[in-house]
Amino acid sequence: MSRHRNVRGYNYDEDFEDDDMYGQSVEDDYCISPATAAQFIYSRQDSRQARQVETLEEAEYEEEEMPTSPTITHTLDPLEQVWTGQLYSCLDQMRAVLGDSIPDSTLTRAALKYDYDPHRALDFILTEENTNVHTPPARSNPHPEPTTASAPHKAKVQEAPESRVEAEVIPKVARMTVSGKKQTMGFDVRSAEENVVVATSVRRGPSPEVPAMETPSKPAAVSEDATIPTPLRSAGKSKQQLNIRAELEKRQGGKPLLNLVVIGHVDAGKSTLMGHVLYLLGNVNKRTMHKYEQEAKKAGKASFAYAWVLDETGEERDRGVTMDVGMTKFETDSTVITLMDAPGHKDFIPNMITGAAQADVAMLVVDASRGEFEAGFEAGGQTREHGLLVRSLGVTQLAVAVNKMDQVNWQQERFQEIVSKLGHFLKQAGFKDSDVFYIPTSGLSGENLTTRSKVPDLTAWYTGPCLLEQMDAFKPPQRSVEKPFRLCVSDVFKVLTTRTAAKDLAKMLEERDQGSGFCVTGKIEAGFIQTGDKALVMPPNETCTVKGITLHDEALDWAAAGDHVSLTVTGMDIIKINVGCIFCDPKEPIRACTRFRARILLFNIEVPVTQGFPVLLHYQTVSEPATIRKIVSILHKSSGEILKKKPKCLSKGQNAVVEIQTQRPVALELYKNYKELGRFMLRYVGSTIAAGVVTEIKE
Ligand code: GDP
Repeated sequence: MSRHRNVRGYNYDEDFEDDDMYGQSVEDDYCISPATAAQFIYSRQDSRQARQVETLEEAEYEEEEMPTSPTITHTLDPLEQVWTGQLYSCLDQMRAVLGDSIPDSTLTRAALKYDYDPHRALDFILTEENTNVHTPPARSNPHPEPTTASAPHKAKVQEAPESRVEAEVIPKVARMTVSGKKQTMGFDVRSAEENVVVATSVRRGPSPEVPAMETPSKPAAVSEDATIPTPLRSAGKSKQQLNIRAELEKRQGGKPLLNLVVIGHVDAGKSTLMGHVLYLLGNVNKRTMHKYEQEAKKAGKASFAYAWVLDETGEERDRGVTMDVGMTKFETDSTVITLMDAPGHKDFIPNMITGAAQADVAMLVVDASRGEFEAGFEAGGQTREHGLLVRSLGVTQLAVAVNKMDQVNWQQERFQEIVSKLGHFLKQAGFKDSDVFYIPTSGLSGENLTTRSKVPDLTAWYTGPCLLEQMDAFKPPQRSVEKPFRLCVSDVFKVLTTRTAAKDLAKMLEERDQGSGFCVTGKIEAGFIQTGDKALVMPPNETCTVKGITLHDEALDWAAAGDHVSLTVTGMDIIKINVGCIFCDPKEPIRACTRFRARILLFNIEVPVTQGFPVLLHYQTVSEPATIRKIVSILHKSSGEILKKKPKCLSKGQNAVVEIQTQRPVALELYKNYKELGRFMLRYVGSTIAAGVVTEIKE
């Protein structure tokens, strides 16, 4: 996992306050984050080595701490000691996953049967025929076996148990956030200028059983094999030769790419719903899910087990809320979907904006329970704000998951009531009726998610698609692949491990001036990039060379608009790169400015906007303090005709042309040239007050 540096807009004065909120220690996270799953992930080689080491270690303190096992009571000879060590080590690892739900005798039998291999023994235990392992109480149906290619296949296990030693299968969840917010993870080092330089990040190569499912990286001594995640590849075809449209067709095997953001009020069930979808699609395996269930149960949050698939950090789990935008990938029959799970809590709206700014389509999750839908929908709830934000940021297609329908006995009347209230609002927000789709779901029980529900109370009145079918039915957007290259940076990092950190850091700081390589991640908004290309970074108006490109952990020679990629770059000082910088084509650069004109639509604001009004400009991953420098005119909402020049103030619902002054330069595009890069939001004291489009760049 890459963690996102906060470099830009970082308020160092807030260090101490922020620490309380965001600053959990690495250890805090380390214990429970799936990112640390490396310790559980099976690698044959590692496992053998580990077994040998464990054997020695266990043998050493065996005499003092002789566990009470019915099977071993006599004095042990050296060989037996080795076996005993292996057995207890194996039992320990199994208990870490299963908790105390399975009797010791069953665990011991399985451990002996599988030669002390905890992974195979666990597999055996977790196979349905062999055990009554706990399944979540709320589920009405047992989980179907995952069906996608990446899913572990039961038949195969039985035919060739050796060939599939089950690893934990977890989705890779990357984190995306905005500039201006302090980051918690990684290993940040400030330069003399107090900019953040380095993040540690450890990436493991995928295990053979889990191709392309690299675990999110995590600091700490997970692994020593630090690698720059983007393998350097020689430049492939030259830019002139590349027929980007044809190459895109080939690459995705005809499957279009869709960036989907999941939005909605806090506790509507977003993470549970999507965690469950990922599980049903095989992106999380049964064993991992079981581990989450056990951990969640132990933490007294049993109902959050599915949410834990996406809510990865310790703090998110402790608080039971999503904070960052978790980003992961999954495939449906016809589409490759990059899923962004946006935080619902109002404190994290800036992160939600970042997610929404990069989305093509959205899924709004609402809680159907009595009183809960209303709480999310009324003033102060996030259902309305999120709906309005995504529409303002250019999303036109929306699936609405009317969730927790199990709580209202799948009542048609309740569903209709919600559809009509939301329908009215969404129309006002600018969505066409024909582009909004409502699906009754239960994220917890898994009904109507990846297969159509068979619950009679629902089938009696609902015959429409399940959630996955709806995701498949979204129309992929037209991407600006032919336009000049633009990528908005959402993370900047170096790859180090904790143990090597100090040494490497010193070396890296030494090399800094020589422009040694580092990585940036971000979404390509327009054009495409090839390895070997030069890119201009705005601001700070510096060039670098792209040495490697990674898309969903795969090294590529090129990537194009719509892709969330990691680039390995050289030839520039990492210190100059910030979250929010734009990488662009040096021949057709983006402009950086501190003053621009824009047409804005004011939301439901309480305080009138006057000249000099302070705002926060949210633009892609940028969050930058700014002021309304001038109010140029008030416009007619639909015709755009000027109603009043130089008004004193602006009030709610008005359309206006204003001049905005930012504190530091931001790289912007005119909306008419690049829709994706010409939109922004303005916020004031924690509320979104306006959406805007850039009409003129001043200086
Ligand atoms: P988020 O804040 O929108 O991501 O919501 P979470 O996924 O964290 O879920 C909040 C709570 O609602 C958790 O306790 C979930 O178990 C519960 N929940 C989520 N979906 C459902 C559902 O379909 N039915 C019921 N009964 N509870 C649900």
